Amino acid sequence: MVSPTDERTEDALRVLRRVFGYDAFRGFQQEVVEHVVAGGDALVLMPTGGGKSLCYQIPALVRDGVAVVVSPLIALMQDQVDALTAVGVRAGFLNSTQEPAERRRVEAAYLAGELDLLYLAPEGLAVRSTLGLLERGRIALFAIDEAHCVSQWGHDFRPDYLNLSMLHERWPDVPRIALTATATRATRTEIATRLRLTEARHFVASFDRPNIQYRIVPKREPRRQLLSLLRDEHPGDAGIVYCLSRASVEKTAEFLVANGIPALPYHAGLDARTRAANQQRFLREDGLVMVATIAFGMGIDKPDVRFVAHLDLPKSVEGYYQETGRAGRDGLPSTAWLAYGLQDVVQQRKMIETSEGDLAHRRNLAAHLDAMLALCETVRCRRAQLLDYFGESGAATCGNCDTCLDPPESWDGTVAAQKLLSTVYRLDRERNQRFGAGHSIDILLGKHTDKIDQHGHDTLSTFGIGTELRDAEWRGVVRQLLAEGLLAVEGDYGTLALTEASADVLGRRRTVTLRKEPERPLSGRAAKPR
Ligand code: ADP
Ligand code: ZN
Repeated sequence: MVSPTDERTEDALRVLRRVFGYDAFRGFQQEVVEHVVAGGDALVLMPTGGGKSLCYQIPALVRDGVAVVVSPLIALMQDQVDALTAVGVRAGFLNSTQEPAERRRVEAAYLAGELDLLYLAPEGLAVRSTLGLLERGRIALFAIDEAHCVSQWGHDFRPDYLNLSMLHERWPDVPRIALTATATRATRTEIATRLRLTEARHFVASFDRPNIQYRIVPKREPRRQLLSLLRDEHPGDAGIVYCLSRASVEKTAEFLVANGIPALPYHAGLDARTRAANQQRFLREDGLVMVATIAFGMGIDKPDVRFVAHLDLPKSVEGYYQETGRAGRDGLPSTAWLAYGLQDVVQQRKMIETSEGDLAHRRNLAAHLDAMLALCETVRCRRAQLLDYFGESGAATCGNCDTCLDPPESWDGTVAAQKLLSTVYRLDRERNQRFGAGHSIDILLGKHTDKIDQHGHDTLSTFGIGTELRDAEWRGVVRQLLAEGLLAVEGDYGTLALTEASADVLGRRRTVTLRKEPERPLSGRAAKPR
């Protein structure tokens, strides 16, 4: 005799093979499918490309009724529905971009039970008429995609997601499955609480993406460095370049085009039609480079993105992981490359200082930035540090990141740190003046710049005492002291200031170990290929 569980497993496997054309489930897809088909709630955390969609699409086909999928990605709904229709699944969507006639057609199909999946934007569920419509049909399950949008700390926060907790009250017997590629424990807890998924089983996949090579290089001439990466290692490849500002997106895209690399811009300042057109071209054509702000990428399913390059520092490790995760969904070798410099730290600290929100919010932002800086300055394996951050401990080295391929040397930077900090101290305490990093470095190097002569800074006792290091090396010292909280930047001009911890270094109670600035080619390709 077959038990109902076996029967359901068979149904699920049949759907996997006949409808989607795959031989076997991947990872814990089967467990999730069985759990949801049996009526259980689930919280699924899987990296991008892990195969989250099938976790709700198969239960949608096995259970009676229509699966309602909540997704913030209105621009992609048509694509998702087209892809399902192509394999014979009955799918539709309701959103604000639709013609009324089309909307009525989908509503009628829903009521007649002629749909397997219905995609909705979260704001749609706040509309009473839509709720009324849903109540008149038969719902198989609710899938809440990109569930991290409920987290108020993330940059993808959507207020309408908070409203989704009502699904449980209105439809207590309908199973709910929430899915996300955001991995931290804090986000997971927040999703479970805010969506009232208290009984949900958690399915957490490994977040390792072994085919992605992580590299973080000191920023010198970022666009030249990027060009050298693309020419030397990724000629003709598709990839994404992230920049912080719209202006720098535009400039970088123009720069690449001027240098013979087909690139398109994408940011929220472009009109919707241009954005959609550029996105479509990126998805459909080969070898295009999308230069974008972080407005681009969520839900983008392009398997052969060979590189993700950051020209500016991401605000958090979560963001970095999500953005780099868009590379190599097909499992083939891919590069995650980030150029980061002193100016990034100055700029981001300033953004936090002037951000809206209370002290707790600013502290939270600062803690996220600190974790990102720690990843940039680590002498450990980047992957090990990244996975550690997500609460996953694995091997100590991966063999596929810059620190594993070309281990950075560390050096005792205590004396250098003292020289720098005492320059800042002297400017501040003796002259009551504050300056940026560049000026302090010029003092240490004994340069007679206009500014130094004008202020008589050649009479400071630290003038010219730092000629043992090059300018770039001093910048590395400043960056690392900032990352470790031994130095602070303040105000509009990013002036340097001491912290409480600086006193320990100046008072010789603390030593400072620093990472040596690599002397690699522009793109920071590892000296020893594997
Ligand atoms: P995610 O939403 O987690 O980023 P997707 O659901 O888009 O990932 O799946 C990523 C890719 O993997 C898709 O191309 C999908 O068709 C494929 N895929 C998913 N599950 C399987 C499977 N069991 N066998 C083969 N391919 C799969
Ligand atoms: Zn490594």
